[in-house]
Amino acid sequence: MDFSFTPEQSALREEVVRFAETSLLEAGGHSLNERDRLNVFDRELWQRCADFGIQGSLLPERYGGSERDAVDTVMILEALGYGCRDNGLTLGLGGQIWSIQEPILVYGSEEQKQRYLPGLASGALIGAHGVSEETAGSDALSLRTRAERVDGGYVLNGRKTTIGMAPVCDLAVVLARTDPDAGQWGVSAFLVEATTEGFERSEPRAKTGTRTNPLGDLILQDCFVPESGRLGGEGIGMSLFTKTISWERAFIHAGHLGSMERLIEKCVEYAREREQFGKPIGDFQSVSNRLANMRLRQETSRLLMYKAASLKDRGKDAPLECAMAKLHIAEALLESATDAVRVHGARGYLAEWDIERELRDALGGVIYAGTSDIQRNLIAELMRR
Ligand SMILES: Cc1cc2nc3c(=O)[nH]c(=O)nc-3n(C[C@H](O)[C@H](O)[C@H](O)COP(=O)(O)OP(=O)(O)OC[C@H]3O[C@@H](n4cnc5c(N)ncnc54)[C@H](O)[C@@H]3O)c2cc1C
Repeated sequence: MDFSFTPEQSALREEVVRFAETSLLEAGGHSLNERDRLNVFDRELWQRCADFGIQGSLLPERYGGSERDAVDTVMILEALGYGCRDNGLTLGLGGQIWSIQEPILVYGSEEQKQRYLPGLASGALIGAHGVSEETAGSDALSLRTRAERVDGGYVLNGRKTTIGMAPVCDLAVVLARTDPDAGQWGVSAFLVEATTEGFERSEPRAKTGTRTNPLGDLILQDCFVPESGRLGGEGIGMSLFTKTISWERAFIHAGHLGSMERLIEKCVEYAREREQFGKPIGDFQSVSNRLANMRLRQETSRLLMYKAASLKDRGKDAPLECAMAKLHIAEALLESATDAVRVHGARGYLAEWDIERELRDALGGVIYAGTSDIQRNLIAELMRR
């Protein structure tokens, strides 16, 4: 068991960090702090990431990707999370890779793969993943959006709420009920293009954190989707949950590993420089214990994440490992971001020091892709099997 990166992986990691640090801070005349304050997503940054090869990392070369494995893709997203302070952007990229591209890759027809994957890799298309509804949150498969079979396809009606990238998406994977009497087995998945008649994207909704990643609703009103737009077979919804969404759960947090490292560095530097009672605050055990806890959380998070990624690369199913990674990393980042505020005192609370944004950005992680409570339920359930 070797926990180190190869020289090639380390070089790639460095390259991503350099790219993120130099190319992803400013675009369209707005600094990150302005984009955060104004709730602005910047497509130019998205495009720069695509040009660099982030979106295409996991995709086969024939669809415009670089055919990397899960470990390398997680490493790239970790490096991005470290080098790029725009956590909303990193979240959006991870979301697209794991919850749009991966399901298309696993369940899509050859025609669907050729139609969408190259555009998603090149930056021409942005994807959103529409599962949640007003009455179907944690109980996602109780969703009510209806897909009624008609000649040549389906007519979709319903509203997906709090969907990442929804206001700017070009393509959505939408889960809808094809059989109202079949419970969780009556849910199917559809690829809906934003230009489709009857499909509408809401304006971004105001929110606490990751504000550069617009969150909104997808509205389907008598929206006709041809048979060729169904992703996989009818009733695939449950399988999608146990297969691709199980990986998404963990890997969507890959960027968090880098955020944690960035926060640690900031806190260590501050603990060295800031003096109270005639000595650096890092000399006080309360502060140094906090730093030690942050480091421990980052290390355990990395171990869980890379273990899950290596299991994926070896063709194993790992729902338990993914749920544990998801739970631990989301909570670890939130605790570490809270600790970072404490270490910085009032400066941690002031917007100009950019620590409070990290805390706001961390908050969503314990909610999206299944809350921490739901991960605990899942872990307990898998242990009983
Ligand atoms: C930033 C962000 C991005 C998101 N992006 C997307 C997206 O791209 N696509 C998408 O489809 N959805 C997205 N969501 C929605 C997200 O998946 C849901 O918010 C989440 O699943 C929880 O659902 P809910 O908010 O309705 O909370 P509820 O399910 O109503 O839960 C409320 C509380 O009750 C607890 N609870 C509920 N059921 C149980 C239970 N059985 N056991 C224990 N506790 C329970 C929850 O843990 C929570 O604390 C996003 C949410 C956020 C915040």
